[in-house]
Amino acid sequence: MVHNTAPKRLDLIENLPSTVPFVGPETQERALGTVFKARLGANESAFGPSALVKTAMADCAYSDVWKYADPENFELRSALADHLSLDMKQIVIGEGIDGLLGTIVRQYVGLNTPVVTSLGAYPTFNYHVAIAGGTVHAVPFKEDKEDLDALLDCAKRAHAALVYLSNPDNPMGTWWQADQIMAFASALPADSLLILDEAYGETAPQNALPPSDWCPHNVIRTRTFSKAYGLAGLRCGYAFGAEALIAPFEKVRSHFGVNIMAQRAGVVALKDQSYLQHVITTLEEGRETLSDIAIDNAFKPIPSATNFVTMDCGRDGAFAMRVLQELTKQGVFVRKPMAPILDRCIRISVGPQKELDILRHALPIAIENAQG
Ligand SMILES: *Cc1c(COP(=O)(O)O)cnc(C)c1O
Repeated sequence: MVHNTAPKRLDLIENLPSTVPFVGPETQERALGTVFKARLGANESAFGPSALVKTAMADCAYSDVWKYADPENFELRSALADHLSLDMKQIVIGEGIDGLLGTIVRQYVGLNTPVVTSLGAYPTFNYHVAIAGGTVHAVPFKEDKEDLDALLDCAKRAHAALVYLSNPDNPMGTWWQADQIMAFASALPADSLLILDEAYGETAPQNALPPSDWCPHNVIRTRTFSKAYGLAGLRCGYAFGAEALIAPFEKVRSHFGVNIMAQRAGVVALKDQSYLQHVITTLEEGRETLSDIAIDNAFKPIPSATNFVTMDCGRDGAFAMRVLQELTKQGVFVRKPMAPILDRCIRISVGPQKELDILRHALPIAIENAQG
């Protein structure tokens, strides 16, 4: 008998590119042999969580974090139900939005299932779709916003099972008003599910978010403790929507995926809304500072409702890439959109004043070197 010489992976997996959605700053630091002086690329809240959350986390570290957490995430779901005026059956917790996107894709996407997103939109969705063998239709941004009309058109033509939209969006930071989002959802084909990613819901203007109890039959909304709540490393996010859309998560999610520290931190973070307000104000000021830095360097800051500012460097993608590389050389970690049209920009997270000062000093040098 002839045996294969190695365990055989699915052709689907073998044929995937070996690229990853994100190269971490740690990878770059190892390659550079030095650590970044300003970490302004990953859209973490540079300000971390509230003191109350830190205390709860420290207590948990000493007492319970080693135990299996409650797989129903009961306390956190109850707290979120109160916070959002929903029934807790309408809420599911996951390992950040990234984890939840995987759980959603697993429910709706098989081989060749069509999905729609924007060209250059948040990449983790595409990553999960690729693993499932689905087909991505990517619609270009228009005037630096996700193009609702074109997305709708594409969803209809492609018979999309899923439509991904983030509002406010990453990597441009732009946003739509709630009524436009709601009209978009109701115009979608009846069998298309909208994933409305509200990772930056807390930093968005009030009128950008549909009411929290807006839960039509074809929309799953995702939010996270990673951004404004400052808990990116803890991996805790949630999805909410109509109960009929949330119940099936039980069949596919990783039941012990969210640890007890993440669950407790989430509960305390929700209680400390005054800290959240403080962070939101600080982020607004930080966006102003970043916009000023952009303008001082003849870059155009794109209006943002997030914790970052994307700057139009005014030339092509190659130039923006050189600016990024020249910032890296000076110990400043930023990221940039890579898709055509958007790739003329660099994206910079709000950071502590000290790191913004480092950027202020480094950017003109980076530009000069990039031009040279
Ligand atoms: C940061 C971000 C996420 C990932 O959030 P996690 O909860 O940390 O996985 C998802 N979507 C968008 C648009 C983001 O910017």
